[in-house]
Amino acid sequence: MSERIREFLRRRADEGPCVVVDTDIVRENYLTFAKALPDTSVYYAVKANPAPEILTLLESLGSSFDCASVGEIEMVLATGADASRISYGNTIKKERDIARAFEYGVRLFAVDSVEEVDKIARVASGSRVFCRVLCDGVGAEWPLSRKFGCAPEMAADVLEHAHRSGLEAHGVSFHVGSQQANLGAWDAALSMAAGVFREMATRGIELKMVNMGGGFPTRYLKDVPGVPSYGEAIFRALTDHFGNRLPSTIIEPGRGMVGNAGMIETEVVLISKKSADDDVRWVFLDIGKFHGLAETMDEAIRYPIRTPRDGDLTAPCVLAGPTCDSVDVLYEKTPYELPVSLSIGDKLLIEACGAYTTTYSSVGFNGFAPLASYVI
Ligand SMILES: *Cc1c(COP(=O)(O)O)cnc(C)c1O
Repeated sequence: MSERIREFLRRRADEGPCVVVDTDIVRENYLTFAKALPDTSVYYAVKANPAPEILTLLESLGSSFDCASVGEIEMVLATGADASRISYGNTIKKERDIARAFEYGVRLFAVDSVEEVDKIARVASGSRVFCRVLCDGVGAEWPLSRKFGCAPEMAADVLEHAHRSGLEAHGVSFHVGSQQANLGAWDAALSMAAGVFREMATRGIELKMVNMGGGFPTRYLKDVPGVPSYGEAIFRALTDHFGNRLPSTIIEPGRGMVGNAGMIETEVVLISKKSADDDVRWVFLDIGKFHGLAETMDEAIRYPIRTPRDGDLTAPCVLAGPTCDSVDVLYEKTPYELPVSLSIGDKLLIEACGAYTTTYSSVGFNGFAPLASYVI
């Protein structure tokens, strides 16, 4: 809970819903990651929140950056960061975008197929590549499924192909799934990564780096382990699987870097019922799935919500957004407890909204403006 954000909102003229991010909290988060894993480089996952103020702050703190597109690379370069601090971490890239990144000076690329290696070999010769391996995402509230990565056996072939194509076969990456509350997830993934290192060694190729991805959680309604616990679990897993020959390591926190730094202010537009004897009220807000709250899809992420009437008796509500689309419902299967006294026009604060809100906001669904963003 940020007093600076509350103060900012008190002074702001009412211009509709917005997210406010407190850079003091982002700074604290960065320092916490750096301290918990002192020998690991932090590459902030830009997609979580690419606000220029956040990128500039992280640049000044010494962070590196995980980018998924030329657009994100340009945002990072605009802070003055050197291209050597950028990883082009998307395994799905157009060849002309790889060429563009290479022109900018980017020399670190993710792959998960020989087809992608061929593109990089053609236009970014000599670069380092790391191969992403599949991870099942068990235990994650926002799993990333099978879209990225290949089987570990295939990863060895992809890396060998890179080596033979004039690229540097640099290492392995994985992502244990976003909002990962299971500390053991990194152990399983690092065991797999160590297997790829051993296989490559038998082929005469020495890998050097493990990119351990993101997944570090934000505290929403449920408690989660702190970053130091993740640091200890990861360090233990690294020494278990790599012994005294530790590779260089990277983490790519997105949610864990900015999630708890932001808050959304929204207004209650309507409270109604579907029939006279309905005991669940419908509460409609002035934002919804299309204005920053996309991660409520399947009710995956449950945000903490503050109301001006906290402390009053509560009752279950269906919570929904304002657009004329029936999927624009935030919580219905598991209704949300809100005060019975809640009224039309009340302002609600949705906490822990610093990650994956502005980037998920649509341009103007039904004429509603994209989520306004302030970084203080
Ligand atoms: C999205 C993403 C991240 C950030 O994940 P979080 O769970 O938000 O920390 C890190 N690495 C890659 C490659 C990603 O796509």
